[in-house]
Amino acid sequence: MKSTTPLIRKILKILFVYDEEARLNLFETFPRLRSFFANRRHFALIRSFGDLAFTLLIIAGLFGPQEPERNAMLFVSWGIWWTGIVLSWFFVGRMWCGFCPFPGVGRLLQRLGLYRPKLPPRSISKYCAYAATALFALIVWAEAVFHMKHSPLATAFLLLTILFGATLLATLYKGQAWCRHFCPLGKIIGSAATLSILEFRADLEKCRGCQTFACKRGKGNIPGCPVYLGAYAARNNLICLVCGHCIPLCDRDSPGLFLRHPLKELVINKGRHLTCTYIIPFLLASQIARFIQEKTSWYQGFKSALFHSEALAFSFLLAFLFALALFVIRLGAELFTIYEDELFGRFSPMVPVLVPLAFTGELVYRLEYLLHEIGNFGPTLGKQLGLSSLEALSFRVPEAFIHYLLLGITALGLLGALYTAHLLAFREFEGLVPRKNFFAILALASLVSAVYFYFVRIY
Ligand code: SF4
Ligand code: SF4
Repeated sequence: MKSTTPLIRKILKILFVYDEEARLNLFETFPRLRSFFANRRHFALIRSFGDLAFTLLIIAGLFGPQEPERNAMLFVSWGIWWTGIVLSWFFVGRMWCGFCPFPGVGRLLQRLGLYRPKLPPRSISKYCAYAATALFALIVWAEAVFHMKHSPLATAFLLLTILFGATLLATLYKGQAWCRHFCPLGKIIGSAATLSILEFRADLEKCRGCQTFACKRGKGNIPGCPVYLGAYAARNNLICLVCGHCIPLCDRDSPGLFLRHPLKELVINKGRHLTCTYIIPFLLASQIARFIQEKTSWYQGFKSALFHSEALAFSFLLAFLFALALFVIRLGAELFTIYEDELFGRFSPMVPVLVPLAFTGELVYRLEYLLHEIGNFGPTLGKQLGLSSLEALSFRVPEAFIHYLLLGITALGLLGALYTAHLLAFREFEGLVPRKNFFAILALASLVSAVYFYFVRIY
């Protein structure tokens, strides 16, 4: 029997010892994984299941009981679904988007020929990062102001609004224009997926001389990459949905799924992409604003001073924290002393330092809700379905467990931020960052992290 020890050792080395070149081709190592991706029926099956669950959630939100303790759709949407997506960022990048139910109706309309077979204009790709950030701001704002986590109807409307956006764009342009350009969730997932341990990439040696570019353009009746990328152009995790659609299209067996060090892409990109430049500071600001809203009495006083208006109080808080996050990123760039390159143009080296904090911050926020509410799921479902046997399944996750788990995750985020700063300062910009500046960058990242530690402490 072949020993698995060298493979495990190799995997651990890739994950824990930073080496930009080191990666493991998972399709070669585990051929069944490639077969899974290449067989499109698997994806169709999972998608159908997702579409069905999604439809049931919307029906339960629209027509089910509106008391939060009698409608399980709230916990499934905000607790299981969204927390699961956040957790998936680290492990599988944007793969969630490959199964996402939002483009389902649009895909169906396209199959029926009810769409304009055109590509989105260039202006869309130019301004989409701003539009997606604005949409994300709107969702976070609506979630906080309308207390969506407690309102089945508001949650169902949110899902329907995103479904409407995805469907509308699917009738206007071919493929998944919504997923590529506008989806606010996709932009957050894409930005956070830069921290993923997986990357979907083509073997550019095999692509050399390719005339068909079938991965992007499609072949025969089979359409190409749904987000107009193509495996050969997937150079980061921002856009590729890891949907595997291009695998059977490519005659040269070029696309592959690779295991890599989680900080590799952050270090290589150095905050070069517009998407991250806006999404990451907004994600940080929105998390801290939500913590302040839910965990401090100060916020209630602030709200009273603003005519008891949740909308006004949260808007001011969010805008202030967003400006503060942009200031931290600017200050970080000054401390790095290098934020422009002849080859790449401008970049924001503080953004990759903050990505691990933004990722763990979102995970902490969602996990806290999940762990506090999971014990009520059985009774809530029981009340909704009239099954008294389920009502007896109530339990509580010990507070101490939740507390230490969230503290541990926050500490991991800080560790990731400090290590990214170290890699940037001493590898990428070797000799360019003064030592005292480096310590100031560490202090800045620690200060941001201290805010999270402060809020995790309050429960
Ligand atoms: S991935 Fe395949 S189809 Fe796409 S460019 Fe490379 S060789 Fe051509
Ligand atoms: S490059 Fe391939 S895996 Fe990535 S989104 Fe396009 S079709 Fe899907």
